Amino acid sequence: MLVTLENIDKLAWEKMDNLLPAIIQDGATGSVLMQGFMNKEALRATLTNKKATFFSRSKQRLWVKGETSDNFLMVNQVLTDCDYDSLLINATPKGPTCHLGFRSCFPEESLTQQNFLSQLEQVIASRKTSSAEESYTAALMAKGLNKVAQKVGEEGVEVALAAVSETKEDLLGECADLFFHTLVLLQHKDIALNEVMAVLQERHNKQ
Ligand code: AMP
Ligand code: ZN
Ligand code: ZN
Ligand code: ZN
Repeated sequence: MLVTLENIDKLAWEKMDNLLPAIIQDGATGSVLMQGFMNKEALRATLTNKKATFFSRSKQRLWVKGETSDNFLMVNQVLTDCDYDSLLINATPKGPTCHLGFRSCFPEESLTQQNFLSQLEQVIASRKTSSAEESYTAALMAKGLNKVAQKVGEEGVEVALAAVSETKEDLLGECADLFFHTLVLLQHKDIALNEVMAVLQERHNKQ
Protein backbone atom coordinates (compact mmCIF):
# COMPACT_ATOMS: atom_id res chain seq x y z
CA MET A 1 0.00 0.00 0.00
CA LEU A 2 1.11 3.53 -0.78
CA VAL A 3 1.58 5.45 2.48
CA THR A 4 0.33 9.03 2.65
CA LEU A 5 -0.30 11.53 5.43
CA GLU A 6 -3.96 10.46 5.27
CA ASN A 7 -3.50 6.74 5.96
CA ILE A 8 -0.53 6.87 8.33
CA ASP A 9 -2.70 5.71 11.27
CA LYS A 10 -3.51 2.42 9.50
CA LEU A 11 0.06 1.21 10.04
CA ALA A 12 0.74 -1.39 12.75
CA TRP A 13 2.21 1.10 15.23
CA GLU A 14 0.97 -0.59 18.39
CA LYS A 15 2.15 -4.05 17.38
CA MET A 16 5.61 -2.59 16.68
CA ASP A 17 5.95 -0.49 19.84
CA ASN A 18 5.58 2.62 17.66
CA LEU A 19 8.77 1.98 15.67
CA LEU A 20 8.61 0.58 12.13
CA PRO A 21 11.68 -0.62 10.25
CA ALA A 22 12.21 1.51 7.15
CA ILE A 23 14.22 0.17 4.23
CA ILE A 24 15.65 2.83 1.94
CA GLN A 25 15.81 1.81 -1.70
CA ASP A 26 17.62 3.79 -4.38
CA GLY A 27 14.97 4.80 -6.90
CA ALA A 28 17.43 4.69 -9.78
CA THR A 29 19.06 1.31 -9.18
CA GLY A 30 16.77 -0.56 -6.78
CA SER A 31 19.71 -1.09 -4.44
CA VAL A 32 19.09 -1.12 -0.72
CA LEU A 33 20.90 1.89 0.74
CA MET A 34 20.22 1.64 4.47
CA GLN A 35 17.71 0.65 7.12
CA GLY A 36 16.46 2.71 10.01
CA PHE A 37 13.41 3.07 12.24
CA MET A 38 10.57 5.55 12.00
CA ASN A 39 8.01 6.49 14.60
CA LYS A 40 4.84 8.24 13.50
CA GLU A 41 6.39 11.67 13.87
CA ALA A 42 9.42 10.68 11.77
CA LEU A 43 7.21 9.25 9.04
CA ARG A 44 5.05 12.38 9.05
CA ALA A 45 8.18 14.53 8.66
CA THR A 46 9.43 12.22 5.88
CA LEU A 47 6.16 12.56 3.93
CA THR A 48 5.91 16.30 4.54
CA ASN A 49 9.48 17.37 3.85
CA LYS A 50 10.34 14.60 1.35
CA LYS A 51 13.58 13.96 3.26
CA ALA A 52 13.97 10.59 4.98
CA THR A 53 13.68 11.21 8.71
CA PHE A 54 14.21 8.52 11.31
CA PHE A 55 13.80 8.10 15.02
CA SER A 56 17.34 7.61 16.26
CA ARG A 57 17.37 5.11 19.10
CA SER A 58 20.87 6.15 20.15
CA LYS A 59 20.11 9.89 20.06
CA GLN A 60 16.51 9.38 21.26
CA ARG A 61 15.28 12.08 18.88
CA LEU A 62 14.20 12.63 15.29
CA TRP A 63 17.10 12.42 12.91
CA VAL A 64 16.95 13.83 9.41
CA LYS A 65 19.41 11.76 7.41
CA GLY A 66 21.88 14.34 6.07
CA GLU A 67 21.27 16.92 8.79
CA THR A 68 25.00 17.40 9.31
CA SER A 69 26.46 15.79 6.16
CA ASP A 70 23.93 17.24 3.65
CA ASN A 71 23.68 13.69 2.26
CA PHE A 72 19.90 13.79 2.30
CA LEU A 73 17.68 11.01 1.02
CA MET A 74 15.06 12.71 -1.16
CA VAL A 75 11.90 10.64 -0.91
CA ASN A 76 9.93 9.69 -4.02
CA GLN A 77 7.46 7.21 -2.55
CA VAL A 78 6.68 5.36 0.68
CA LEU A 79 5.19 1.85 0.60
CA THR A 80 4.17 -0.48 3.40
CA ASP A 81 4.11 -4.27 3.27
CA CYS A 82 1.23 -6.78 3.43
CA ASP A 83 0.70 -6.48 7.19
CA TYR A 84 1.53 -2.78 7.50
CA ASP A 85 4.47 -3.28 9.86
CA SER A 86 7.41 -2.17 7.74
CA LEU A 87 8.22 0.60 5.29
CA LEU A 88 9.90 0.62 1.91
CA ILE A 89 11.13 4.11 1.05
CA ASN A 90 12.03 4.85 -2.54
CA ALA A 91 14.52 7.72 -2.47
CA THR A 92 17.15 9.58 -4.43
CA PRO A 93 20.37 9.94 -2.40
CA LYS A 94 22.08 13.35 -2.45
CA GLY A 95 25.46 11.79 -1.64
CA PRO A 96 26.84 8.68 0.02
CA THR A 97 24.21 7.27 2.36
CA CYS A 98 26.59 5.42 4.67
CA HIS A 99 28.48 7.57 7.15
CA LEU A 100 31.57 5.54 6.16
CA GLY A 101 31.39 7.18 2.73
CA PHE A 102 29.84 4.31 0.78
CA ARG A 103 26.84 4.74 -1.47
CA SER A 104 25.08 2.04 0.54
CA CYS A 105 25.36 0.78 4.12
CA PHE A 106 25.37 -2.64 2.40
CA PRO A 107 28.36 -1.99 0.11
CA GLU A 108 28.31 -5.48 -1.38
CA GLU A 109 25.03 -4.57 -3.07
CA SER A 110 26.15 -5.58 -6.57
CA LEU A 111 26.53 -9.26 -5.63
CA THR A 112 22.98 -9.99 -6.76
CA GLN A 113 23.44 -8.10 -10.03
CA GLN A 114 26.52 -10.12 -10.88
CA ASN A 115 24.97 -13.37 -9.66
CA PHE A 116 24.88 -15.18 -12.98
CA LEU A 117 28.40 -14.11 -13.88
CA SER A 118 29.46 -15.59 -10.53
CA GLN A 119 27.72 -18.86 -11.39
CA LEU A 120 29.43 -18.95 -14.75
CA GLU A 121 32.74 -18.21 -13.06
CA GLN A 122 32.26 -21.33 -10.93
CA VAL A 123 31.47 -23.47 -13.98
CA ILE A 124 34.60 -22.20 -15.72
CA ALA A 125 36.67 -22.92 -12.61
CA SER A 126 35.36 -26.48 -12.57
CA ARG A 127 36.41 -26.91 -16.23
CA LYS A 128 40.04 -26.42 -15.21
CA THR A 129 40.13 -30.09 -14.34
CA SER A 130 37.99 -31.30 -17.28
CA SER A 131 39.54 -32.91 -20.33
CA ALA A 132 40.07 -30.81 -23.44
CA GLU A 133 38.01 -33.26 -25.52
CA GLU A 134 34.81 -32.76 -23.56
CA SER A 135 35.00 -29.05 -22.82
CA TYR A 136 35.65 -26.00 -25.04
CA THR A 137 36.67 -24.07 -21.94
CA ALA A 138 39.17 -26.73 -20.88
CA ALA A 139 40.58 -26.90 -24.43
CA LEU A 140 40.97 -23.11 -24.57
CA MET A 141 42.71 -22.95 -21.21
CA ALA A 142 45.00 -25.83 -22.20
CA LYS A 143 46.27 -23.67 -25.09
CA GLY A 144 47.83 -21.31 -22.59
CA LEU A 145 47.59 -17.71 -21.44
CA ASN A 146 48.64 -16.09 -24.72
CA LYS A 147 45.86 -17.86 -26.63
CA VAL A 148 43.24 -16.92 -24.02
CA ALA A 149 44.43 -13.29 -23.98
CA GLN A 150 44.34 -13.17 -27.78
CA LYS A 151 40.76 -14.48 -27.72
CA VAL A 152 39.71 -11.70 -25.33
CA GLY A 153 41.29 -9.15 -27.68
CA GLU A 154 39.43 -10.60 -30.68
CA GLU A 155 36.11 -10.62 -28.88
CA GLY A 156 36.65 -7.00 -27.83
CA VAL A 157 37.13 -6.02 -31.46
CA GLU A 158 34.06 -8.07 -32.45
CA VAL A 159 31.96 -6.23 -29.87
CA ALA A 160 33.10 -2.90 -31.31
CA LEU A 161 32.40 -3.99 -34.90
CA ALA A 162 28.98 -5.43 -34.04
CA ALA A 163 28.06 -2.21 -32.24
CA VAL A 164 28.64 -0.06 -35.31
CA SER A 165 27.65 -2.33 -38.19
CA GLU A 166 25.65 -5.36 -37.05
CA THR A 167 22.28 -6.14 -35.45
CA LYS A 168 21.44 -5.93 -31.79
CA GLU A 169 21.40 -9.75 -31.62
CA ASP A 170 24.93 -9.85 -33.03
CA LEU A 171 26.05 -7.30 -30.45
CA LEU A 172 24.44 -9.26 -27.61
CA GLY A 173 26.21 -12.40 -28.78
CA GLU A 174 29.57 -10.67 -29.02
CA CYS A 175 29.17 -9.12 -25.58
CA ALA A 176 28.37 -12.58 -24.20
CA ASP A 177 31.51 -13.91 -25.93
CA LEU A 178 33.58 -11.12 -24.41
CA PHE A 179 32.22 -11.63 -20.89
CA PHE A 180 32.75 -15.38 -21.15
CA HIS A 181 36.31 -15.14 -22.45
CA THR A 182 37.15 -12.46 -19.90
CA LEU A 183 35.99 -14.86 -17.17
CA VAL A 184 38.20 -17.59 -18.68
CA LEU A 185 41.15 -15.19 -18.70
CA LEU A 186 40.57 -14.25 -15.06
CA GLN A 187 40.37 -17.94 -14.11
CA HIS A 188 43.59 -18.59 -15.99
CA LYS A 189 45.27 -15.88 -13.93
CA ASP A 190 43.59 -17.07 -10.70
CA ILE A 191 41.79 -13.76 -10.30
CA ALA A 192 38.27 -13.77 -8.84
CA LEU A 193 35.48 -11.83 -10.52
CA ASN A 194 34.85 -10.26 -7.11
CA GLU A 195 38.24 -8.58 -7.29
CA VAL A 196 37.17 -6.80 -10.48
CA MET A 197 33.77 -5.98 -8.98
CA ALA A 198 35.50 -4.52 -5.92
CA VAL A 199 37.36 -2.08 -8.17
CA LEU A 200 34.11 -1.02 -9.87
CA GLN A 201 32.31 -0.84 -6.55
CA GLU A 202 34.97 1.32 -4.99
CA ARG A 203 34.89 3.79 -7.87
CA HIS A 204 31.11 3.81 -7.72
CA ASN A 205 30.93 4.27 -3.95
CA LYS A 206 33.31 7.20 -4.08
CA GLN A 207 31.19 8.61 -6.95
P1 AMP B 1 24.02 12.72 8.66
O1 AMP B 1 22.62 12.36 9.02
O2 AMP B 1 24.41 12.12 7.33
O3 AMP B 1 24.22 14.19 8.67
O4 AMP B 1 24.97 12.05 9.72
C1 AMP B 1 24.87 12.41 11.10
C2 AMP B 1 25.23 11.23 11.96
O5 AMP B 1 24.26 10.22 11.80
C3 AMP B 1 26.54 10.54 11.62
O6 AMP B 1 27.62 11.08 12.32
C4 AMP B 1 26.29 9.12 12.10
O7 AMP B 1 26.45 9.00 13.48
C5 AMP B 1 24.85 8.95 11.81
N1 AMP B 1 24.61 8.32 10.48
C6 AMP B 1 24.70 8.93 9.28
N2 AMP B 1 24.39 8.10 8.28
C7 AMP B 1 24.10 6.92 8.85
C8 AMP B 1 23.68 5.66 8.37
N3 AMP B 1 23.53 5.45 7.06
N4 AMP B 1 23.45 4.66 9.24
C9 AMP B 1 23.59 4.88 10.54
N5 AMP B 1 23.97 6.05 11.09
C10 AMP B 1 24.23 7.07 10.27
ZN1 ZN C 1 5.21 -7.22 7.51
ZN1 ZN D 1 26.33 2.91 6.95
ZN1 ZN E 1 32.75 -13.27 -30.83
